[in-house]
Amino acid sequence: AAKSAGRATFAFYEASLNSAAVKRLRLESALRHALARGEIEVHFQPKVDAGGRACSVEALARWTGSEFGVVSPATFIPIAEETGLIEPITEFVLRTACSQAAQWHRAGFGPLAVAVNLSPRLFRSGCFATQVAAALADYGLPADCLELEITEGTLMDEGVDAIEQLRALKALGVRLAVDDFGTGYSSLAYLTRFPLDILKIDKSFVSRATEGEGEAILSRAIVTLGRDLGLRVVAEGVETESQWKLFAGAGCHEFQGYLFARPLPASSADAWLAANTATAPA
Ligand code: C2E
Ligand code: MG
Ligand code: MG
Ligand code: MG
Repeated sequence: AAKSAGRATFAFYEASLNSAAVKRLRLESALRHALARGEIEVHFQPKVDAGGRACSVEALARWTGSEFGVVSPATFIPIAEETGLIEPITEFVLRTACSQAAQWHRAGFGPLAVAVNLSPRLFRSGCFATQVAAALADYGLPADCLELEITEGTLMDEGVDAIEQLRALKALGVRLAVDDFGTGYSSLAYLTRFPLDILKIDKSFVSRATEGEGEAILSRAIVTLGRDLGLRVVAEGVETESQWKLFAGAGCHEFQGYLFARPLPASSADAWLAANTATAPA
């Protein structure tokens, strides 16, 4: 009986493995080779000031594999986080971003900053700040031109461990941003506990902001909260003029979204920056 039950269980596993789990395993093994095969790219999405001029760009990882084609970061970043592949991927994104930003500086695109997203896992190894310092030095990028975006979930989950690492990063002179603000966590205490410079309001929040008077009041209150804490406030996922107006009117400093530009490969970002930078070369 035990034997046949075992077989039945095996058959069950086999059936389910043939769907989601197999796809996931195949994605995982493909992702293991993605960097070495040059399948990971970095795209850049501009952030603009109230006048629509570029002040910084966010580096976003892109994966186009031979087996799966374009895979969304929403799919591969969590796999990278679980497998530890996020460490070499972040290193690649960080170095590509620093190199590209330094190139834009040399091309005369003002004091443009570049932003890189960090995963909670990076705070476990204890030497992430050393990697950041090396990347800045290798490409000659001033530290205050690098922004590091950390989701509020990370700040809440990693708590005490994260704070030491954040202080080490802060000591380098880089700017720290809380990303996806307004998604899920209700504790605001961390805004003062961590050494933050930038508050990025999540796009889910921005998309609801113009839906009603209550939503508008809440949006303005969040911008005011950020400003009063001395943070630079950024609205993410701005898709309409009315969203831009609402957040600009509330005193938001920077705006990012399809209204201005989608994430672009470096060469297209070049052209976009040339057209939208106050100090762009003639
Ligand atoms: P995020 O850091 O919050 O980045 C913003 C996401 O919103 C990007 O999605 C961007 O393409 C999208 N977005 C920007 N403006 C708009 C808009 O107006 N409308 C809409 N609908 N979407 C907009 P993407 O590139 O798919 O990245 C998703 C997430 O994956 C990122 O969210 C970030 O958490 C993560 N991610 C991407 N690259 C990296 C990376 O190198 N490292 C880590 N740790 N995470 C990354
Ligand atoms: Mg981000
Ligand atoms: Mg974000
Ligand atoms: Mg987001």
